[in-house]
Formats: sequence, structure tokens, C-alpha cells
Amino acid sequence: MNGHSGAGRFAPSPSGDLHLGNLRTALLAWLFARTTGRAFGIRIEDLDRVRPGAAERQLSDLAALGLDWDGPVTRQSERLALHHAAVDGLTAAGLTYECYCTRREIQQAAQAPHGPMGAYPGTCRELSATERAERRAQGRPAALRLRSKTSEFEIVDGLRGHYRGLVDDFVLRRGDGIPAYNLAVVVDDADQGVDQVVRGDDLLPSTPRQAYLATLLGVNVPRYVHVPLVLNRDGKRLAKRDGAVTLADRRALGESPQQVFALLADSLGYRANRPHELLAQFRPALLPTTPWVLATNDVVEPSRNP
Ligand code: GLU
Repeated sequence: MNGHSGAGRFAPSPSGDLHLGNLRTALLAWLFARTTGRAFGIRIEDLDRVRPGAAERQLSDLAALGLDWDGPVTRQSERLALHHAAVDGLTAAGLTYECYCTRREIQQAAQAPHGPMGAYPGTCRELSATERAERRAQGRPAALRLRSKTSEFEIVDGLRGHYRGLVDDFVLRRGDGIPAYNLAVVVDDADQGVDQVVRGDDLLPSTPRQAYLATLLGVNVPRYVHVPLVLNRDGKRLAKRDGAVTLADRRALGESPQQVFALLADSLGYRANRPHELLAQFRPALLPTTPWVLATNDVVEPSRNP
């Protein structure tokens, strides 16, 4: 995009309202992009559960906090042709296979005392044409998996450093024909010129798979920055039941978007009411690397700076 070199992005799933942790991740993605001369885009990842109106509320919450973005907001569901083309290319290269396993079968097989934890055990990897035809005849829908040539891949993360993790024969296209997240995210980031991925560190374990897939597709592996999540006082992931966790909840308590922004900034060690006030102060090296533990009655007074 004009005047920028590279791009960052925020890629929310429109399954509900963004909570303070998601908003904080969005702010960090914005800060990393804006302080490194990158464009900043928003991509709605709507291949999974979509709650009507959620995407629109997410965008208006981001705007209310003062975050801005370049170019039109994109939606993953409008990019299916690109995802399918990437899968077809991998299939043509002999890098996929059909998998007829049910979720339960995979769980049972994965408990077998061999193979890395959580890895697909490869049940369908060597099915013969006859075996595949039998399963098809039983009416089982086939997912398409990657025929991985490695079991591990290393990435470098801006906060976490070198991270080596599992790569299994993960799903590229689900049984219902929809592209899997791990495929779509890699294809879309590459196609959209995204070379900086800032997101919650719950996705760190999936990142070696995605980076490896990028190398198979012949696209650049982006720079990754996985940022800590927000936890409630019990050390669990923040959830709706934790009280006033969305911008709408906080506004209902009488807080302004600037006050909510001040709370997010405070959690990062800054005093500011709007994103642009942070641009000059932002020091990635000083970011907290441990989760933000939120007491939901936390309130930060807006700072008096204009
Ligand atoms: N859509 C994913 C989520 O909401 C984020 C994916 C990403 O940033 O790569 O959690």
C-alpha cells in the first residue's frame, strides 16, 4: 500500500464481541505496524462461527478506541478461490491426501503411546485407492490433509525468540469443503502483503505449521510477534462471565472509550488515552511478556495530557 513498506494486520474472528484482551492485541498489532512504517489492515476471519452483527461491532469498537486501518476491510469468505487454488497446487505436487477420520477416531488414535502429543497419527496417509473408495462409498466426507515431510519446524518470534514446534499432517480443507484456518491464514497473509503477524500467543503452537506451509507454497514467512493473553484473577482466559470485559460492557458502566484505552495502555506500561499518543513512546523490547491479569473492576483515570 502507498508509502508503506510491508503490512501488519489484525484478523478477528466474528464470533462475538472483542474483549479487552482482543482489543489489547489489536492495539499491539497497530503499534507494531505503525511504528515500523507498515500498512495496517483488518481481515475478518469468517470461515468459522459467525455471529450476525459481530464483525460490524468489532470494527466500530476498534474505531472508537482510535485505531485506524488502511484499505478496505477484507473477509476471508470472499477469498475462497485463492484458498482452493493453493490447496489444488499442493495436491498437484503430491502434498495432500484425503482423510476420512472422524474427530472421535483421531482422539482415540492420538492417545496411543507413540508419536508427538496432539499430532494427527497418520491413519489415512497410506490408504490405497480401494480403501479410499470404500470409505467414500460409506458416505464419509473427506478432509484434505497436508502430507508433511517434517515433524517439526522452527520459527523466530519477536517476543519469544526461537520457537520449535510440531508440524503434523494438519487439515488444509475441512470435510465440509471449507478451507482450514491454518491454510487460509497463510494464503491470505501472503496475498495481502502481510509480513508482520502480531497476535495472541495462544496461536504460537500453530505457528510452526503455518510457517512450514508458507515455505511449501513458496511465499515468505512473516515476522511473528505473539503477545500474551489476558487472564482473569483465577489465571484463566478472560471470558464473558468475568464481568465487564467488552467495550460495550465498560461503556454501560459509564466509562468512555478513552478510559478503556487508558486501561489497555496502562497494561502495557504506558499512560495514554489514544493510540497516536503511544507512537513516540512504544518500545517493543519493554513489553510485558507475561499475561495481563485483569481484575474486571480495574479502572484507569484518563491521563490529563491532551
Ligand atoms: N482469527 C484468529 C482469532 O481470532 C486470529 C488469527 C491470526 O491472527 O492469525 O483468534
